Amino acid sequence: MVTIATLGSHCALQVLKGAKDEGFRTLVVTQKRREKFYRRFKFIDDFLVLDKFADITKPKNIAFLKKRGSIIIPHGTLISEVGIEKVENELDVSIFGNRHILRWEADRELKDRLTREANLRSPKTFSSPDKIDRLVIAKLPGAKGGLGYFLANDEKSYWKNVKELQKKGIIDKKTPIFIQEYVVGVPVYFQYFYSPLKKELEFFGIDRRYETTVDGIGRIPAEHQKGLLPSYIVVGNIPLVLRESLLEEAYQMGERFVKAVEKHVPPGMIGPFCIEGIYNGDAEFVTFEYSARIVAGTNLYIAGSPYFSLIYDEPMSMGRRIAREIKDAKKSLNKLLT
Ligand code: AMP
Repeated sequence: MVTIATLGSHCALQVLKGAKDEGFRTLVVTQKRREKFYRRFKFIDDFLVLDKFADITKPKNIAFLKKRGSIIIPHGTLISEVGIEKVENELDVSIFGNRHILRWEADRELKDRLTREANLRSPKTFSSPDKIDRLVIAKLPGAKGGLGYFLANDEKSYWKNVKELQKKGIIDKKTPIFIQEYVVGVPVYFQYFYSPLKKELEFFGIDRRYETTVDGIGRIPAEHQKGLLPSYIVVGNIPLVLRESLLEEAYQMGERFVKAVEKHVPPGMIGPFCIEGIYNGDAEFVTFEYSARIVAGTNLYIAGSPYFSLIYDEPMSMGRRIAREIKDAKKSLNKLLT
């Protein structure tokens, strides 16, 4: 028996709906307070109810998942709530995708390295605040939706913000802060799926994020904007299609990324990933982030995406695409067994 399992958050609904559409049993790992919410959805067969997500690695929970032949679909909440150490060393359950690349996503320095290896144009990074010579964005570790990010244009404004965050208890003296050039332009998020079975890159869709308060500041007059600190907490996603003349480059970037992962993070890219960046004033794409797993922006396209409609003649969400790959892999294996 194979059960497709995921943490109840982020993109769980489309992952489990897609898995059900492909004929799998489904399981949600949910926190007690969200159990009632997930029980609304009939395509979820099994529930593992926990006080907190980090408890997933307790032996009895691992046994529960293993007994059902679970394959976990990792997403941002697995990284932010369970943590990379536990995912690597204690989560003794199959994960769809390359478990090792999750570290390359969680660790900013590694992330930066892979971006460069994939030859993706990237913003300048600053090793210490005294080197800041332009507008920068300072980022905290983990995929927590941009909570606590701040802008600064010199060392003084950097420390002012750091003190503020320390006072609020969001960071402490040891929190590593990643300082990156702020790219002015429009943010765009490219969503891909790499199929190791077909050895093919599929372009799925594009979104942009709706972030508070940064997307709200433009709604008030400039005189009232002064002194307001933008925050970058994602509250939702907005669909986007690209000028067709820019699409080819989006494919090329995805292909270079897959190649870099193959070289540096064996066994290479498996399944969904996202390249995140900004088209600057010269309409050049500058990559500031990637996610080496499904992103929540794919929730936009549960009934199929504009670009998957060009590949598939049926509604194909990212969740369903993942389940399809697992199903195809099972079929190939069955062909070898008698
Ligand atoms: P991240 O957590 O890196 O995805 O960033 C959260 C948000 O911060 C993004 O969606 C952007 O709005 C913004 N952002 C991150 N990095 C940059 C950058 N280098 N330049 C401009 N905006 C950025």
